[in-house]
Amino acid sequence: MAGKIIINTERCKGCGLCIAVCPKGSIIISKKSNKSGYFPAESSNAECTGCALCAIICPEVVIEVFREEDVPADKPGKKSRKGLIKDKA
Ligand code: SF4
Ligand code: SF4
Repeated sequence: MAGKIIINTERCKGCGLCIAVCPKGSIIISKKSNKSGYFPAESSNAECTGCALCAIICPEVVIEVFREEDVPADKPGKKSRKGLIKDKA
């Protein structure tokens, strides 16, 4: 399953926990500091599965996870479509 994360880099403190926990190596540390002087985590989105481990471990709660899942058809006879759904965890 494909996933995608969005990190609020201005609120990230660059602790690196999300990088350590990501099984796919999809998160890197930015070379540019944020306004608070931290070097924030950045998503490369490569190989992200949407497992949400990064979001769960982040002490600042600044990671949003989206997963590509089948969106149920809203009307009978209509085909389901693919879309990125925000993780509810
Ligand atoms: S959702 Fe999972 S695979 Fe994607 S960046 Fe976070 S820890 Fe890595
Ligand atoms: S765990 Fe959160 S605060 Fe720490 S580097 Fe990752 S996004 Fe930033």
